[in-house]
Amino acid sequence: MGVSGAPAAVATETGPMPGIVLTNLRKVINWSRKSSLWYMLFGIACCAIEMMATGASRYDFDRFGMIFRASPRQADLMIVAGTVNEKMADVVKRLYDQMAEPRWVIAMGVCAVNGGPYWGSYNVVDGVDLVVPVDVYVPGCPPRPEALLHGVLKLQEKIQREGLALPVR
Ligand code: SF4
Repeated sequence: MGVSGAPAAVATETGPMPGIVLTNLRKVINWSRKSSLWYMLFGIACCAIEMMATGASRYDFDRFGMIFRASPRQADLMIVAGTVNEKMADVVKRLYDQMAEPRWVIAMGVCAVNGGPYWGSYNVVDGVDLVVPVDVYVPGCPPRPEALLHGVLKLQEKIQREGLALPVR
């Protein structure tokens, strides 16, 4: 301890200086991107109820920097929560295309993952990844809020590893 009670700073010729943080631009940009994910809700079936619970006070999505936006032009994350039927698929794609890059997608629930109980049905898409690229899959019928939170943490890990170049979709 130093004289004032503060930890004594040990400066060596080869070690980092105290109070200096070493990083690079990619890490800082990815940190800021993952820490402020503005999500557009795509609640299209029963899974939406659990997604709404995740955003409410008990689970508190906001503490991860997750802010709900009603417009795709202000959102960089789409959470597809529910069954994607054939009529809805065009809407999902159109809204995804209106989101600015970089953008990410979470498929919430087995319906969005692969059609779930409606797999092979004449009017249900067998997974939203047939319509838009999906970054994280959250299985369950429906997944609990904890599962969606876990999916968001996985997405944040993925974003932190990404390069700065925009992906070719
Ligand atoms: S996964 Fe289950 S809870 Fe979610 S939309 Fe499909 S049927 Fe409903």
